[in-house]
Amino acid sequence: MKNIDLLIDARWVAPVEPDDRVLDHHSVAVDKGQIVAVLPTERAHQRYRAEQHRTLPHHLLTPGFINAHGHAAMSLFRGLADDLPLMTWLEEHIWPAEGQWVSDEFVADGVKLAMAEMLRSGTTCFSDMYFFPDVVAREARRIGMRAAVGLILIDFPTVWAENADEYLRKGLEIHDHYRYDHLISTFFAPHAPYTVSDEPLSKVRTLADELHIPIQMHVHETSAEVQNAVESSGKRPLQRLDELGLLSPNFMAVHMTDLTETEIQQLAQTNSHVVHCPESNMKLASGHCPVQSLLNADINVALGTDGAASNNDLDMIGEMRSAALLAKLADAHSDASATAVDAHTALAMATINGAKALGIDQQTGSLTAGKDADITAIDLNHLATQPIYDPVSQLVYAASRDQVSDVWVQGQAQLESGRLSHFNTTHLIETADNWRARIQSFSNDDHETP
Ligand SMILES: [Zn+2]
Repeated sequence: MKNIDLLIDARWVAPVEPDDRVLDHHSVAVDKGQIVAVLPTERAHQRYRAEQHRTLPHHLLTPGFINAHGHAAMSLFRGLADDLPLMTWLEEHIWPAEGQWVSDEFVADGVKLAMAEMLRSGTTCFSDMYFFPDVVAREARRIGMRAAVGLILIDFPTVWAENADEYLRKGLEIHDHYRYDHLISTFFAPHAPYTVSDEPLSKVRTLADELHIPIQMHVHETSAEVQNAVESSGKRPLQRLDELGLLSPNFMAVHMTDLTETEIQQLAQTNSHVVHCPESNMKLASGHCPVQSLLNADINVALGTDGAASNNDLDMIGEMRSAALLAKLADAHSDASATAVDAHTALAMATINGAKALGIDQQTGSLTAGKDADITAIDLNHLATQPIYDPVSQLVYAASRDQVSDVWVQGQAQLESGRLSHFNTTHLIETADNWRARIQSFSNDDHETP
């Protein structure tokens, strides 16, 4: 008998790697934060003596979900400006609100709210693109949640930095601080082709090559973005990024709702990644990403919620369902439409594909011996998920996020039988409501002033 820290017995385990098999009556053995084995429960009981033993008789274990694109602090703007198109939403509502409110304190409170919502719904790792990435990294570290923190870059001055050099300098300091951290990774996050000019983008490419860290950028979020670029420069944004040398296995293009066949080949040949945010794309009426065509071209497609101001939740189970359903609708002209993005593909997009895109697939993204124990348990013993022919199908097409019962990050419990280990929910709700009151009274004053 070997002594280990934690043994989780589950009715089903969907390890995602090496393939999409679902294992019956299996256990995950965890020691020092890492998965040491995934094996039949009977054998696990013969082999291991665990300090902590968790029995989950009606549950499916999956790798913790990876939310590959978002703006966590924007949770405090959830519901502030709904039902508007992207540029009206950004230029008339979000950017002015950010100019007024974003600060160290705002980001800390927003990120805590977002992390609690994400952990409660089975997400163990989130990617973030926002101001004060140092605060995002600090708060994630403090809680013990895995985070890929974007080093933001945008042409105009903000409360975070005055110019490109300052954005990059502050970003590099954060990268240096966390470079050996096992929970926090970093990537460059130039906001979008229409907000970052060529010179800083070239610098980002050089730095990303030197430091071996990824680049994530909103690209082709809408057809209007593509059209404006063509009118002003004669080039589609992706072509410009390719000429700047950005497309590579370290590049994540977020959204990609407007793509030609040639561009799909370009993404495939450069081994670039795509991060799909179906609900944000639907809500802002941005368009749809041709996910099945990307997958057919062997492009790695990850899944993100985007910020809670354009979704409006951070629910990766909901996002998997939206991705699966939208892919079938979007491919409605082809004969094979109903087979587009099946449930197992959706689960891979929400786990291992996100880890690959973020360059952290050695640590997380599947339930495999040697990886960190980032694990989500979903209780399928609910009316809405009966009967259970295929637990992954029930997860993607029928389960709600409230059925997530337990979550571990690096073997540490973050959610236990539905209770968050490190958050006071009442306090989070009060803090969010205080921000709502401040933001709303300011907006009202603003309207009354001539
Ligand atoms: Zn975004």
